[in-house]
Amino acid sequence: MSIAQMRITDIRTTTVAVPLEAALRHANGCHWGRFIRTIVEVDTDAGITGLGEMGGGGESAETSFRGLKNYLVGHDPFALEALRFLIANPTAGLYNNRTQLLAAIEFACLDIVGQALGVPVHALLGGKLRDAVPFASYLFFRFGGDSTGCHEVRTVDQLVSMARALKASCGFTSHKLKGGVFPPRHELACYRALSEALPGDSFRYDPNAAFSIEEAIRFGRAIADLTNDYYEDPTWGLNGMRQVRAAVPIRLATNTVVVNFEQLATNLRDPAVDVVLLDTTFWGGIRPCLKAAAVCETMQTGISVHSSGELGVQLATMLHLGVVLPNLTFAADAHYHHLVDDVIAGGKLKYENGAIRVPAGPGLGVRLDRDKMETYAALYRRLGDYRYDRDPARPGWFATVPNSAWADPEAAFWFDGNSARAL
Ligand SMILES: [Mg+2]
Repeated sequence: MSIAQMRITDIRTTTVAVPLEAALRHANGCHWGRFIRTIVEVDTDAGITGLGEMGGGGESAETSFRGLKNYLVGHDPFALEALRFLIANPTAGLYNNRTQLLAAIEFACLDIVGQALGVPVHALLGGKLRDAVPFASYLFFRFGGDSTGCHEVRTVDQLVSMARALKASCGFTSHKLKGGVFPPRHELACYRALSEALPGDSFRYDPNAAFSIEEAIRFGRAIADLTNDYYEDPTWGLNGMRQVRAAVPIRLATNTVVVNFEQLATNLRDPAVDVVLLDTTFWGGIRPCLKAAAVCETMQTGISVHSSGELGVQLATMLHLGVVLPNLTFAADAHYHHLVDDVIAGGKLKYENGAIRVPAGPGLGVRLDRDKMETYAALYRRLGDYRYDRDPARPGWFATVPNSAWADPEAAFWFDGNSARAL
């Protein structure tokens, strides 16, 4: 069969829950000790199956993908521009936003095209400029306990020892602290201690827009003497970020308020951020990230690769993107090292000197391990969804923007899989 005649015949989805080393706290709540991801398999009449992945929010997306089947069966997986309008037309999409679904289908179609042509996805994107993508450590405050017996991270010393351990095991030279959990004075002490403990490395801090403009300016000025990659989403909104940018001598980055081309254009006309963190899911696929990166290259706006929580399929999309970007001057982000396992054949991709090599095989270069898929699908059926935007240690609390109701840095908690108890 010629590839010109290839058609999508089915879309299959499996929701998996893959354990994290520990429950990870963030400004909006918590990753409750596991990532819930929907693995997408797109079948074709050529016998080639492409892989996609979607996650976020602690919930399955299977129902949403089921609704796409009627749109996509019969579609040519090579017709990627048409795919965008077929399911995510910008005006029709006002009623039914499918940007993230489009991303997962785009991953799978690129995987199919690459397999059909016998080339890796990066070759379809212009060809790799490097063999591996450097990553930052992604340091979270976290609960103690859980099945892996990992230690909690709450105090300055606990955070510094975690950073040292990750540097030793993975080779990171850039470190990201996910904040917005504890009072800013505690997180400032943590961030400064990291810088002092790891001289020569660079740092980035991301409180997920939890600060008021005034708090963001105070914190930014208090870290301005450190080796910062950038200051990520200290406050909410392009207008808030613009005010912070004018008052703080650090580059600002975002993965929240420049996540589409309209926002990118607005930011270029009236800059609010200096570095756009490209997320293959939020932007609707690898190709839109590449287009945005080209605009940023022309305008000399910084870029990096964002992590919205990934298993190996999504990580592969980040790697194929990362190796073709000429202007990737910052280490990418990944949650990947917090996972205890993966659903891809051969197990987790490995860090070498803080970087992960792009898979060499055709398409995305990763395939599913069926036993692992069944194991973690069963774990999902047992544990179910979780509330990503709630903190199991603070019943009744929910995040506001800006926030001022911080978690107590003196309070230790033990997390057992679905609830936290004070120690
Ligand atoms: Mg962020």
